[in-house]
Amino acid sequence: MIKTLGYAVPDAKSPFRRIEIDRRDPGPRDVQIEIEWCGVCHSDLHTARSEWPGTVYPCIPGHEILGRVSAVGSEVKGFRVGERAAVGCMVDSCRTCPGCKAGLEQYCDGPAVFTYNGPDKHLGGTTYGGYTARIVVDQDFALHVSEKLDPAGAAPLLCAGITTYSPLRHWGAGPGKTVGVVGLGGLGHMAVKLAHAMGARVVLLTTSPGKAEDAKRLGASDVVVSRDAAQMKKHAGSLDLIVDTVAASHDLDALLALLKVDGTLCLVGAPEKPHPAVSPLNLIFRRRAVAGSLIGGIRETQEMLDFCAKHGIVADVEKIPIQKIDEAYERMLKSDVKYRFSIDMSSLK
Ligand code: NAP
Ligand code: ZN
Ligand code: ZN
Repeated sequence: MIKTLGYAVPDAKSPFRRIEIDRRDPGPRDVQIEIEWCGVCHSDLHTARSEWPGTVYPCIPGHEILGRVSAVGSEVKGFRVGERAAVGCMVDSCRTCPGCKAGLEQYCDGPAVFTYNGPDKHLGGTTYGGYTARIVVDQDFALHVSEKLDPAGAAPLLCAGITTYSPLRHWGAGPGKTVGVVGLGGLGHMAVKLAHAMGARVVLLTTSPGKAEDAKRLGASDVVVSRDAAQMKKHAGSLDLIVDTVAASHDLDALLALLKVDGTLCLVGAPEKPHPAVSPLNLIFRRRAVAGSLIGGIRETQEMLDFCAKHGIVADVEKIPIQKIDEAYERMLKSDVKYRFSIDMSSLK
């Protein structure tokens, strides 16, 4: 076992504190990574503060992990010491269920073992995420990230990137399609960049009028202030797909009204409280659908990382030392992130 420093919350109400945890010695199939950057996802906050059920404490979040390989097991193929490597939201899955066989490990019947707050089958207890100096992961759940990409900005691709890439691909975002993105936060700004790079026309729906200029710079053709009914009405029936990244409960009917016939509202935001009920008529009259999507499989995550390398896409990040993590959470709650915090893990001492 290797002693490793990390930042943990001891319960749902207390600030983060520095602790020491154990990481397993790399087994034959494992890749050991020294973490350089870790993005801050709103899911980290939901989990750390027990907004979702089942948080085990101490809790160390972080699933946008990028670093360098420092050791590999004897059976590892495809990763070498010194090479850049990354870990996203999952560290294991059953490998045999239909989801796993289809490359959709996120929908594993097992279920998949999540990078933090999951059952650690190697050491017992709970998995610890990327707010740590080092992680040891099965080679099947380690990813390659091009050295061409800025590492601080590339880390958030491991969750914000894949969580938006996957539904955009699934529902066919591309030339001739108009995609609405709700919320310009970590996920939302990646959705704008990715949908634009796929060739779709992008409309951003935001509660923050001050973000309009940035949204256009990131690739949106139009920006709609979602609390302005007149602006919303102008876009009625115009969107093929909406990717909703909002981290709080909100009215979905107003968004559904923007969809064309056969349009889909895909929820990726996972607020603590449910959204108000949807009006059936709003679905029936244009054969609209409400759907959801969870991150993406490992194969698709690698495809997304390669797509981002080809198009030079990374997240727009504010770099922070780990000591500023509580402050970052407070700013995230105020929708005040431009547009992802990325933790410089060299600050962890
Ligand atoms: P974030 O950076 O905090 O962004 C959320 C954005 O939602 C805000 O920037 C804001 O954008 C908008 N917003 C916030 N409160 C709002 C409200 N009351 N009404 C309307 N809009 C509001 O969060 P994130 O990291 O992108 O994560 C977003 C959500 O996705 C979280 O619930 C997270 O847990 C979830 N998530 C899901 C998956 C998945 O696999 N499905 C993966 C990762 C994260 P504007 O200022 O532009 O309005
Ligand atoms: Zn996430
Ligand atoms: Zn499985």
